Amino acid sequence: MNYFAGLDIGSTAIKVALVNQEGDLIGMRVTDSGSLFHKNAKEALRVLLEQHGIAREEVRYLIATGYGRKLFKEADDSISEITANAIGAHEVGRAFGGVRTIINIGGQDSKAIQIDATGSVSNFAMNDKCAAGTGRFLDVAARNLNIDLEELGDYHFNGKGVPLTINSTCTVFAESEIIGLLANSHGKEEIVAGIHYSIAKRTVRLAKRVGIEDRVYFDGGPALNKGLVAALQDELQRELVVPEHPQTTTAFGAAILARNEFLSGNG
Ligand code: ADP
Repeated sequence: MNYFAGLDIGSTAIKVALVNQEGDLIGMRVTDSGSLFHKNAKEALRVLLEQHGIAREEVRYLIATGYGRKLFKEADDSISEITANAIGAHEVGRAFGGVRTIINIGGQDSKAIQIDATGSVSNFAMNDKCAAGTGRFLDVAARNLNIDLEELGDYHFNGKGVPLTINSTCTVFAESEIIGLLANSHGKEEIVAGIHYSIAKRTVRLAKRVGIEDRVYFDGGPALNKGLVAALQDELQRELVVPEHPQTTTAFGAAILARNEFLSGNG
């Protein structure tokens, strides 16, 4: 059988997606990037193939993407995460009637991408200078609050009071601000909601730089957090398309491109 793989080596997580000849998603895997990107990426691919009983030789074409893509020398090709994200979101977005704006929040950066009706990138903006609007901010906040990342969504919706305002525009200062709020007996729920709104406001400013056109697709690991999704919908004043597997859209896009390249004879 012929299979095609997309390997998204992110700053925080490695994502692998596998598609078949028809372009259907066969499987995916998410693991920590750690410090040994190449070794961990190889292992993630190996385990995914093993889980599905697929031999490495059956993967006819593999495209690497993401921050660490150049480290994976065995890839047949590599593309930017902007292009891979656009292809993945365009493909998944079909079922929702098509998407034109992508908001991606990753582990250490955030992006807004505008795509045309064919899925080609027409504009994008990126924040990779400041951790405040990224997954890193959520990781640090969850640690300070002593709650699991997966619990942030529940805390967001369980607050009795209004979300607190987080004024700090830098993760380091926000950390002190959160500790100060806790010391002043503010509820974790209101703090969590405040953090989500702070990220949402930054993200909307970024998205406005590329122009926000419906439908808006939200992906990246932090899109798994329902509280953040709600805050972003509030700030954008519109519904977001959140896929079932938001963290693997970019890997899926790379896998789709791998399939298309191979079948068109370019691979
Ligand atoms: P990158 O591609 O930059 O490595 P990802 O898109 O994989 O980033 O996102 C990583 C981030 O996703 C983590 O920093 C974390 O904040 C967030 N994340 C991962 N899993 C979850 C989860 N189950 N719930 C909420 N947030 C999550």
